[in-house]
Parts: sequence; C-alpha cells; structure tokens
Amino acid sequence: MRVAVIGAGAIGLSCARSLAAGGADVVVLERGRAGGGCSYGNTGWICPALSAPLPAPKVMGRAVLGMGRRNSPLLVQPRVDASFARWSWGFWRASSRERYEAGLRATLDLARDCFELYDRLAQEIGLEIHRTGMVVAARTEAGLAEYVAMIEGAQKAGYDGPVEVLDGDGLRSREPSLADDVVGGLFVAAERYVRPEKLTAALAWSLRAGGAEVLEGAEVTRLTYRTGRWRLEAGDRTLEADRVVLAAGAWSARLLSALGVRIPFEAAKGYSVTASGTAAAPIHALYLAEAKVGASPFSDGVRLAGIFDLTGIDSSLRRKRIDALTRSSEPFFREWRPEHVEEQWAGLRPYPADGLPIIGGVPGHPGLVAATGHGRLGITLAPGTGEAVRSIVLDGRVSVEVRPFGIERFLR
Ligand SMILES: Cc1cc2nc3c(=O)[nH]c(=O)nc-3n(C[C@H](O)[C@H](O)[C@H](O)COP(=O)(O)OP(=O)(O)OC[C@H]3O[C@@H](n4cnc5c(N)ncnc54)[C@H](O)[C@@H]3O)c2cc1C
Repeated sequence: MRVAVIGAGAIGLSCARSLAAGGADVVVLERGRAGGGCSYGNTGWICPALSAPLPAPKVMGRAVLGMGRRNSPLLVQPRVDASFARWSWGFWRASSRERYEAGLRATLDLARDCFELYDRLAQEIGLEIHRTGMVVAARTEAGLAEYVAMIEGAQKAGYDGPVEVLDGDGLRSREPSLADDVVGGLFVAAERYVRPEKLTAALAWSLRAGGAEVLEGAEVTRLTYRTGRWRLEAGDRTLEADRVVLAAGAWSARLLSALGVRIPFEAAKGYSVTASGTAAAPIHALYLAEAKVGASPFSDGVRLAGIFDLTGIDSSLRRKRIDALTRSSEPFFREWRPEHVEEQWAGLRPYPADGLPIIGGVPGHPGLVAATGHGRLGITLAPGTGEAVRSIVLDGRVSVEVRPFGIERFLR
C-alpha cells in the first residue's frame, strides 16, 4: 500500500516510521526542511505528568489577568473573523471540569507507552535522550500549589510515575542551579527529554535508510480523490497514493479547509533561546512555574522555551517576546544566565480549540487520516500517534485510546 504523509515534523515522521515498519510503501512530503517546523527548537520533553489540556477550569480568567503583566507568557492578537471566534468559543466550552478531566485521562492513555517507545527508538536509531527526570520550581506558594494540584490531577487520571514534593532547600539539593528564593517544587523522576532536532534528523535518516522517500521542498498545494486513489500536487511533482496522512502541524487546517472540512484550529507561537553561560547550569529538565518557561540542558547549551502567542500563522521572531522569555527565567537561577546565545527560534504549535490532538480518518474522505493538533505535547505523543496511525491505516482499526481524538468531535 502506497501511503503519502504530508509534513515531516515529529508527528509525520513518527507516523511514516510506524507505517514503513508495518510494510507500507511510504513517501513523506515536506514543504521546507524535514524537522524544520515546530518540532525543531522546542524543549523536547517526554512529559506525561504535565499533559493536562490547556483549556482548564478558570484558565480564561487567569489568562486575562496574566496578560497585563510585563513579560507575560501569553499574548493574544484578537482577530475579527469567524474562525478565531469559533476557536475561542470552543476553547471556553472545553474548559469545564468534566471535559478537562476527560481530556487529561485520554491524553495519558495515549502517552501510556511513551517512555518505552522512546527508549526503543533510542536503541534503534540513536537519540540524544536524557533520563534525569524533571524538576518543577516555584517562587511563590501559589505557583507551587498550582503545579502540585496539576500533578495530583494527573495521578488521579492514571499517571503512575514517582513524584516528590520538596521545599526550597530540598529542591536546591537536587537542582543546585536554583536561586535561594525558590520556595519549593516537584521532582518527577521518570520524565525524559530528547534533543528534538536530532530526533527528527534520526527519524528522517532511518526512513531513507529503509527505502522510504522523504521529499523536502515539496509543498502539497492540492489534494484530490478520484477512483479510489489520492492525487497530491506539490510544485512540479504529482504523486498518487492509496492513503494520505495529514500531519502538517499548524498548517493542517488550511489543507482540510480546501477539502471543505472546517475545524476550530489556531497556531500558538512559542519561542526558544539556546545558550551557554559561565555559571553552573541546570542539570535537569526544569519547569519554571510562574514564568511558564521550560529549560532543557543539552550536551552543548541550555534551551529556554515558552511563550504562547495567538498571532496566527506567523513564525517571525519578535525581539520583545524573546526578551520576555529570558527575563522571566532569570530570577529562578542562582547565577546561570544565557550569556552566549547560539540560536533563537520561533515555532507554531498546532492547537485545536479543545487542546487535544486530532487522530483518525476524516469522514467523507476515504483513506485520508489526520494526525495533527498536538499542541504543546507533540514530542511526548509522537511515537504513540505513529503506532495509532499505523493500525488505522494498515489494519483499519481505531484503538480505544484513540477514539477521543477523532475529528468527528468538531464536525457534529
Ligand atoms: C516553545 C515550544 C516548546 C515545546 N516543548 C515541547 C516539549 O517539551 N514536549 C512536547 O511534547 N512538545 C513540545 N512542544 C510542542 C511540539 O513542538 C509540537 O507539538 C510538535 O512539534 C508538533 O509536531 P508536528 O509534526 O505536528 O508539527 P511540525 O513540526 O510543525 O511539522 C509539520 C510540518 O508540516 C510541514 N507542512 C505544512 N504544510 C505543508 C504542506 N502543505 N505540504 C508539505 N508540508 C507541509 C511544515 O513545514 C512542518 O515541517 C513545544 C512547542 C513549542 C513552540
């Protein structure tokens, strides 16, 4: 069976790898460079403990209050158009306690095997993977309480990894880079992280080595279905396939809309700065609670990442937002500062209104399978999504864990 995958991010490449392992003849079409989208400069965390959906009870109120703050991690550029209004309405409706808890349970089910799948991948294709656990650090009692409650919620919903709640001194003895006024935090031992750009490079390499095609500079501009086959137009190339997996990240809604399928979907821009400094750097994946910034110590520098800007499809780097990211992280560190900046980056998280991925067949379009909308969890959920898509495409089986992510929820 010939399967075309649109998009070579962590999701598209993971789907392609699982499909190729299942015997499909796979071609991946990527409009830019493989791994050059949102999967490039993120923190690379495999973090089911922090997989709570963004639409949560009270989140709207907190967001509005927080936006007024200097260095706020959230920026919304409201647009007067029907699609933004539909997304905002859908987000608000999804933030009821009942839907939040159901979304959290579903996400944890999808993430259930993520550590094992990544450990296997690391053995098979080689990854920069760090198994040092994750530290959440808070500078206020309210910040600490928010994340203790979030992780207790994850435990209630099925997260079973070890979690320690520590006071400031306890946390500093684990993570000595933290400043003296950090009041406490959590140590979540099982969480891992990868260098995401190495992950996508290794996936693309292993696909090519196994005989699959990964075409770069191949933007799919038209998708048509005729007599049982899909036809994809990408520049001067035209390809045919029996099945199509749509994994175009933040751009997915555009392709769906051209097929008459309209879903509430936005791009949420995040930023990262990868830098080194002379003082002692963090030694764990570190989440800075009030700043909402993640820090990943890689082999050659620390990556700070965060910010959630609803500014549409726009990947431009805005100096003010980069400064907000670095400035808000500084009070958490005793001495470490991002002195020698190696890279600054912005990427677009694909965000459906309810904050949950979209995985499954698209009704009315036989053989078209969506794998998109992973928001802030695309690295965590990539291998599980790949396995789910493999069974949908090759066995026609939608597993129980995947049912909550069907696109039908937006089409009723
Ligand atoms: C600051 C930040 C930090 C993050 N940290 C984490 C983290 O620690 N852990 C985690 O799990 N997640 C994290 N995320 C989220 C994660 O990065 C995303 O969920 C994930 O990268 C989405 O992967 P994707 O493959 O869907 O999208 P992308 O990586 O964007 O891939 C989609 C690809 O499709 C291509 N494409 C689009 N349209 C077309 C077309 N018409 N034809 C061909 N190709 C096309 C694009 O060029 C792109 O390469 C973070 C995100 C940000 C912004």
